[in-house]
This record gives sequence, structure tokens and C-alpha cells, in this order.
Amino acid sequence: MKEKNDIKRYQMYIGGKFVDSLDESYFQSINPFSGEVWADIPRGGKEDVDKAFQAARECYESQEWRALSPTKRGKLLRKLAEAIENNAEHLAKIETRDNGKLYKEMLAQLKAIPSWFEYYAGLADKVEGSVIPLDRQSVFNYTLREPLGVIACITPWNSPLLLATWKVAPALAAGNTVVLKPSEYTSASTLELAKIFNEVGFPAGTLNMVTGYGHTVGDVLSKHPLANKVAFTGGTETGRKVATNAASHLAGVTLELGGKSPNIVFADADLDAAEAGVIAGIFAASGQTCIAGSRLFIERSIADEFLNRIVDRAKSIKLGDPNEPETQMGPSATPTQLKKIEEYVNISVDEGAKVLAGGEQPKEPALSKGLFFYPTVLTEVNNSMRICQEEVFGPVLSVIPFDSEEEVVKMANDTEFGLGAGIWTNNLKKSHRMARAIESGTVWINTYRATASNSPFGGYKNSGLGRESGLDAIYEYMQTKSVWVELSDEISDPFSIRT
Ligand code: NAD
Repeated sequence: MKEKNDIKRYQMYIGGKFVDSLDESYFQSINPFSGEVWADIPRGGKEDVDKAFQAARECYESQEWRALSPTKRGKLLRKLAEAIENNAEHLAKIETRDNGKLYKEMLAQLKAIPSWFEYYAGLADKVEGSVIPLDRQSVFNYTLREPLGVIACITPWNSPLLLATWKVAPALAAGNTVVLKPSEYTSASTLELAKIFNEVGFPAGTLNMVTGYGHTVGDVLSKHPLANKVAFTGGTETGRKVATNAASHLAGVTLELGGKSPNIVFADADLDAAEAGVIAGIFAASGQTCIAGSRLFIERSIADEFLNRIVDRAKSIKLGDPNEPETQMGPSATPTQLKKIEEYVNISVDEGAKVLAGGEQPKEPALSKGLFFYPTVLTEVNNSMRICQEEVFGPVLSVIPFDSEEEVVKMANDTEFGLGAGIWTNNLKKSHRMARAIESGTVWINTYRATASNSPFGGYKNSGLGRESGLDAIYEYMQTKSVWVELSDEISDPFSIRT
């Protein structure tokens, strides 16, 4: 990496080498709290992507990669986990500088990331084929679980390294090689990871990183004929384009997309816990999480009391420098995102919503350079309004009272999304009835916003396709081969199918 006028200049990572883009062009990374440009990121193009895929494919076919048994791959992944752990603070600082999320949030993510590499390191040599008990006993039929080849990974700006890890760890454990493209808004931490990865001892070309814009580099990456699978996290519209691109050369996809998750509070819930869960669900990370609990449903008998709690809490949230430990909400990551939040609040008001908290950008001079929006609570909304149907990806909570379990299930399920859902109740039977009735990939009962390396995560409906984390994810990066071995000396009729 070169440094120029205090602006860090990064390089891409292709075939085990740190390189500029072929035309040596750059775009800038901006700190969303201070508004300052702090890094130059290589602006990759088609030829750079080609180079990265060639490196990944060459590595995949090399003796060096083939000689790495699953156990040895696991050992290297464990070394990588340790190296990330040793650099957690440094990487978290870079992420906060790039996306404006709280340092304590990014550090917690960085400290959790090694557990994904450790989990898949352990799993690498435990994925087994099977022996099939065929009717024809003279045949020995068994299956091999094999990697797919080269995996193209595309990540968003909100949790760059965590979401890259969810793809890279199972993909490498399964024996694939990877080309990774981070978001143009937050490429730096991924390129910092390249330096750490480079020291671990994987063969050159195992993991390649190209940077650039989505409509150019992302588009080429997902269309690339050498991509055997595309693993994508981002918005639902982009996900559709990526899936179409992948389908053009019949590559598989894993899609982790948007959400409009319900948080449902019943009258019999522990309201202190529910309050903390609802606040975490929508205001942590300034609402910039795919699992944001952006629709709050409250049972009518406690609706006023619980809403007052949420409004009071929202108004007391401390906005500020994401690096300061007392700050509770940082800025939005990009000007486009801030504008989108403002537009959605205006649309909801035009459609009849009432703003009980926030609803605007702060005017305090201390926050003037940052992309801040006040924590916002809206009432007088109904579930068919755009604010309840479309993802805002910001600190905006819509509140709707309900009268019955049946009614709330219907409203909770009535969106195109199905990523997460929170249920707050002390009634055991009701909680499990609700867990079954809600159409979403994750249901949290009396908790929210929890993930783990060994628990599958993904979306129902338009929130995604496939699963990340847990056992499910390693199979997303493998294919099954069926091997038939005739053990008898019998010569069979060539004109009749063998069964
Ligand atoms: P985005 O869809 O704009 O971008 C995501 C990535 O796709 C970026 O790297 C971008 O450069 C790339 N991209 C953009 N256009 C492309 C194209 N035409 N072809 C290929 N790649 C392209 O999303 P974002 O704004 O960075 O992130 C926010 C979105 O991500 C939200 O919708 C959020 O819900 C979603 N998200 C989902 C999950 C999940 O696990 N389900 C997690 C985090 C974020």
C-alpha cells in the first residue's frame, strides 16, 4: 500500500500479489462521520476481473491446491482465524472509518469473525460422502462431495468483513477458490484482510480481491464464465440482477437480500426485555442491518404504554462520533442512503403517518458534517403503506397495534420479505405457534439480532436463496458425484438400461 498526502492508497489482491488496477485509476473512500476523504481504492475493470478469475482457476487446478487435504485446509483456516483475532481492533477501526457504524459494533463483529473460520476449519474434514445400498448388489455405489470450482463473492457496505467471512470460510473449507468484491463504499477493510491472508500460507490465487463499482465490476463478476457460483449479499433488486447474470452461464447462487422484519410484542411479554430488543432491532447500527426490526406490532392492551416507552427511548439515543464509547447511533453510511431515509419518512407522512420521534436530520453543529438522521418512530401507519412494505435501511420504526394472534401473523407475513422476526411473549405455546406461522428464515423468541457460526441464516421469499452459516452453508459450496463400480464379471445387454 502506498500513502499520499495522508490519504491511504490501497491495491487489489490478485494471484497472491498486491496490484493496481490495469488502468491505474481510483475512487475515493469517505468517512461518513467527518465527511473526509481518507483512502484511494483501485477502480477495477473487466480485465482486472478476468485476471482475478484466471488466478483463482489456475490455483484451483494447481497441484499445490489439490495437495492441500481438507485437514490441511482446516489448519490454514485456523491460522487465518488467529491472525484476524490479533488484528481485530485495527480492522474494526477501518470499518468504522468507512461505514460510520459504531466502533464497539464493528469490534464485536471482528471478534466474532474468527469463530466462523474456526467452525469451517473444523468442518473441512468432516464432510463425508455415503455408500448407497442399491438393489443390484453387485454394484458398489458411493458418493463424493466435491467443491464447485471458483466462487464469486459480492458483499455490501454494512458489515463488510463479517459478510465476506460468511462466504469465504465455507467456500475455502469446501475446497473452492474465491474472487471477492467488496462494496465500493467500504472496500478498505477487505483489502486490509488481504494483507493478513497473504501471511497465512495459502497458495497464491486461493483468495483474490477486486474492487470497483457494482454496475461494472460486480456485473462482470456475476456474469463471468469462470464463476461456478455467485454468493451475494445486498439489496433485493441487485440480487435479481446478479441471479440473472449467474443464470446466463448456469452458475448457482446464494442470495442474502433485504428485509422488512416484524418485531411482535404480546401483552404478556417481559416489557423491559422487549423494549431493549425493539430498540436494538431498529436503532442499533442506525437501522443499517438486513434484519432491522422495522415494523413493530404491539398487542392493543399495552399499545399506548409500550409505544411511550419506545418513543422516550428513541428520543434519548445519543448520536455522535462512532468511535466514542458513549455514542449509541452513528451516521448513515452514504449520502444516497441518508436521502433515501428522508424520502421514505416524507412518503409515509404524505400517506398519513404521524411522526412521534425524529423524522428529520439533526441540526446540532457537532453533527453537521456527518450523515445523521434522528431515530424515528411513526404511528398511524397501516401495513399496506410503502413504509411497511419497502426496505428503508435506516433508523425508522413503523408501529401498528394488533388484537389477535391470527391478525398479527397475517400482517407480519404480508410483505415480499421474510428474513427475520422477533416474538416477545412469556407464553410458551404461543411462542412456538408463532415461530411456525411466521414466514421467515430466522425467528427470535425473547431475543433479537443474534447470529452464530453454527446456526443457519438466510431468507424466505424475496429475502434470499440458500443459507449461510451452520452445516447447511458448506453444502452450498459443494456438489455431489455418484460413483458406480461393477464388482461382478457379468456382461449385460448393451441395449437395455442398467438399474
Ligand atoms: P447493494 O445491492 O447496492 O450492493 C451490494 C453489492 O452489490 C455491492 O458490492 C455492490 O457494488 C454490488 N452491486 C451493485 N450493483 C450490482 C450489479 N448490477 N451487479 C453486481 N453487483 C452489483 O446493497 P448495499 O446498499 O451495499 O447493502 C444494503 C443491502 O444489503 C440492503 O438491502 C440489506 O438488506 C442487504 N443486506 C442483506 C443481508 C443478508 O444477510 N440478508 C446482510 C446485509 C445487507
